[in-house]
Amino acid sequence: MSAPTIHSRLPDVGTTIFTVMSSLAAELGAVNLGQGFPDFPMSAELVSLVDQAMRDGYNQYVHMNGLIGLREALAEKIRFLYGHAVDAESQITVTPGGTYAIYTALTAVLQPGDEVIVFEPAYDSYIPNVIINGAVPVRIDLRFPDYRIDWDEVRRQITGRTRMIMLNSPNNPTGAVLRAEDMEQLRAIVKDTRILIQSDEVYEHLIFDKIPHQSILRYPDLLERGFASFSFGKVFHCTGWKLGYSVSSPALMREFRKVHQFNCFSCHAPSQVALAKFLGDRSSYLSLGAFMQRKRDYFQELMGQTRFTPLPSHGSYFQLYSYDRFSDESDKDLAIRITKEYGVATIPVSAFYQSGQDNKVVRFCFAKKDETLETAVSRLVKI
Ligand code: PMP
Ligand code: GLN
Repeated sequence: MSAPTIHSRLPDVGTTIFTVMSSLAAELGAVNLGQGFPDFPMSAELVSLVDQAMRDGYNQYVHMNGLIGLREALAEKIRFLYGHAVDAESQITVTPGGTYAIYTALTAVLQPGDEVIVFEPAYDSYIPNVIINGAVPVRIDLRFPDYRIDWDEVRRQITGRTRMIMLNSPNNPTGAVLRAEDMEQLRAIVKDTRILIQSDEVYEHLIFDKIPHQSILRYPDLLERGFASFSFGKVFHCTGWKLGYSVSSPALMREFRKVHQFNCFSCHAPSQVALAKFLGDRSSYLSLGAFMQRKRDYFQELMGQTRFTPLPSHGSYFQLYSYDRFSDESDKDLAIRITKEYGVATIPVSAFYQSGQDNKVVRFCFAKKDETLETAVSRLVKI
C-alpha cells in the first residue's frame, strides 16, 4: 500500500519560530524571553468572574457572533476610546483569538491573484494566510531602524490588483506604532480604490509614552473598508484563552461570518460572560499601558548593564535589541547560542522576513515578572 501523495498548500512553511524557540527554552531550562506570553498571573477578578459564570450555568453555545452583552460592552469601549459608534449586532464578531480573526478576514474577501501589501518584519502568520487563500503577498520593508512605513514605496507598489493592506500597530516584533500622519497617508492612498485593510490591533492597550493608539476604528472611512482585529488574551495577560474579536463594516462582517460560522461557529461562553462584566469598569483596560510601560522601562534599565543596544519600543510586549557591537553571527545563530550557553531564549527578527533579512537584532519579551527579567539579565551581562 503506498501513501497518498500530498501537494502542500504551504510548501515553504516550517514550524513557527515561536514554537521552535519555546521548545528549545523548555528543553534547556532557559529563561524564555522569546515567545510573547506573560509569566505573571492574570486578573484574579476576571478569573472569579469566569468561575462564577460557569457556576451560573453559562456552559452552552452562545450566539455564533458572540455573546451580545460582550459585543455591547465592546461597542461602548470603542465609542469611549475612539469616538465612533459601531453596531454590536452587525459589526462585531467574537473569535477564538486574533490570529483566527485575521485568517477569517482574509479568507472571506481574497480572490486568487489578489495582491496584498504586507510590511516586513511581519507577524509570521500573515504571509501564509495570504498564500493559502491563493493571493499574492507584496512585501514592503519597514524602514530600519525606526520601522516606520515608507508611504511613497506603498504608492509605488500599488497596482490594479492590489486588494488589501495589512497593518499591525503596536507592532510585533518591532514595538513601533502608527501615528496620525500615517493614518492620513493611508486614507489618501485607499480613497476611491477597491483596497481593503486588515488592521491587527492585538496590542491595542499596550501602548506607551502617552501615544494615542491609531485604531482604524477612529476613521469611519477606513472601517468602511477594513477589519480591525483584537485579542483578549494579549491585553488581559491570558494568552491561553485564545479569545478575541473582529470589527468591520456591516457588509464586510456579513462575509466574515459566512466563513466563521463553518469554522469555529461560537466561542468559549463563560469567558464571554466574564469579559462583558469586566469591561464595564474602564480601569480594566485603561491601566494596562502604564503597567506594561513600567515593565519596558525596568527591562531597559536592566539591559543597560549588557552589551546589547536597545531600539525604541512604543508598544506591545516586545523590545528589539541590536547586538552588532559584539557579534557578527546571524541572528538565528546568536539566538540559539545564547539560549544554549547563557540560558536565555529570544526571537531572531529575520524570522519575520520571507527573505531572511538579518539586521542583527533579536526580540525580547518583557511581559514577565520582575524576577524573571532580573534572572535573564544576570545571565546576559556575561556575554
Ligand atoms: N497578531 C499579533 C501581532 C500577535 O503578536 C499575536 C499574538 N499571538 C496575535 C496576532 C494573535 O493573538 P491570539 O493569541 O489572540 O490569536
Ligand atoms: N504572538 C506571540 C509572539 O509573537 C506568539 C503567538 C504564537 O506563538 N503564535 O511571540
